[in-house]
Amino acid sequence: MKDISNYIGGTLVAPVNGQYIDNITPATGKVYSRIPDSGEADVAQAIAAAEAAFPIWSAMSAKERSNILLRISEGIAKRMDELAQAESVDNGKPLKLAMTVDIPRARDNFAFFATAILHDENAMHDMGKSGFNYTKRKPLGVVGCISPWNLPLYLFSWKIAPALAAGNCVVAKPSEVTPYTAFLLSEICIEAGLPDGVLNIVHGYGHTAGQAIVAHPATKAISFTGGTATGKTIAGIAAQQFKKTSLELGGKNANIIFADANFDDALRTSVKSSFANQGQICLCGSRILVHKSIYEKFRDAFVEKVKQLRVGPPNLDSTQVGAVVSEAHRDKIESYIALAKEEGGTVLCGGHRVTPEGEYANGYYLAPTVIEGLPAQCRTNQEEIFGPVVTIMPFETDEEAIALANGTEYGLAFSVWTQNLNRAHLVADALDVGIVWINCWLVRDLRTPFGGTKASGMGREGGFYALDFFTEPKNICIALPQQ
Ligand code: NDP
Repeated sequence: MKDISNYIGGTLVAPVNGQYIDNITPATGKVYSRIPDSGEADVAQAIAAAEAAFPIWSAMSAKERSNILLRISEGIAKRMDELAQAESVDNGKPLKLAMTVDIPRARDNFAFFATAILHDENAMHDMGKSGFNYTKRKPLGVVGCISPWNLPLYLFSWKIAPALAAGNCVVAKPSEVTPYTAFLLSEICIEAGLPDGVLNIVHGYGHTAGQAIVAHPATKAISFTGGTATGKTIAGIAAQQFKKTSLELGGKNANIIFADANFDDALRTSVKSSFANQGQICLCGSRILVHKSIYEKFRDAFVEKVKQLRVGPPNLDSTQVGAVVSEAHRDKIESYIALAKEEGGTVLCGGHRVTPEGEYANGYYLAPTVIEGLPAQCRTNQEEIFGPVVTIMPFETDEEAIALANGTEYGLAFSVWTQNLNRAHLVADALDVGIVWINCWLVRDLRTPFGGTKASGMGREGGFYALDFFTEPKNICIALPQQ
């Protein structure tokens, strides 16, 4: 069985305490590797390595940093098959999804930020004859990046790439549930010639290794993606030290389907936005709101399509829905299905486990589940489930749709389906959310601001928003001689 290593100071090393955590593949429920159970001592070493590397890395020209980051991107491309396989084994997601979405996006994240820094510009504020100001953006120093298990390398690289591109050195922790591709990334960074200590990857639990990164006085900023409760803990610790934080948290996204929507497009994409990655994408629409006049027709067609989704082992080409990430997570999702029934909901399809044959019989498979008949304010419609479970409910007016969509503590990403241009713009404007997709879902342009409102987070990732987060603006004022 493979023992994964930490990546500290350019070297692959064992944890200081010699302790490991079992890494389970959700497809079979079996342990298949072990990861370091790192703690404060490992984090301290990683931070010392990052501090030592910072003067060298931050002094490099943007072009030099860009070249190295492009080599990392190419390294990911070269090992695409191996990375996709590892992501699927670690997470339970269909191999096809890892091959077409997760790993290509990780490759693109490095290439995008490697080139973004070559096309950056800074502000100049003219005071006419009195003089002028110009703004320099300086890297922060050592920063911490902490990411979740649902899109492991995709989200890990979405933080690390801009942090490094901007000239920072990084101490990063992937989710302990899905560490493998982060480990492979350390090998790729070594092969790409990333100077020692510029990126350090420490594996382990959130409450030990993760919290040590947040609490260490040397980390100047924390970029975190994960649950809202964890985000609160991190924000509390970071605020005591006036650290910058970027928090991408949970969601309870609405998918609003008006009577004038293109029915087939809305139907097809709603199946995808509900159940892609087993519903474990922070952007998945988990509440489907449908105009009353088409409610029955849409509901019946939707349930019919959902019943046809093929749930099974992630490595099969035919699989559309793989295993959920862990036994504990499966239990959590099932507890929400039970709660939905207690709250008066009717399960239209799914609501049960799926048991594939042979070695996959003990994996964590759930049938895609659609529930109707629940009030908007019940817990099932208010709390993040983060699995293959959606609710569906009718609305009568645009105002009601907006109120229902906005009526949770979250505000991450909503989809709106209508062919009426005015309605599209007016509804989009009224939604209290960070991202609105009109007649589409998960169409991404890496330059755009990415993040949520309310309990979905604080700050924005993406493009120059991320580069701004990972730098500190410094204003330099020049007074011109006065006659
Ligand atoms: P968690 O909040 O449990 O964990 C996220 C990361 O934080 C993990 O690496 C975790 O380590 C670590 N962590 C946990 N506790 C601490 C702590 N006290 N200090 C520092 N680090 C800590 O989230 P999940 O991994 O369960 O991910 C699912 C959540 O992520 C969902 O709520 C989802 O909505 C959200 N998410 C948000 C996105 C967005 O862009 N807004 C995108 C994707 C997901 P460990 O694994 O050991 O617990």
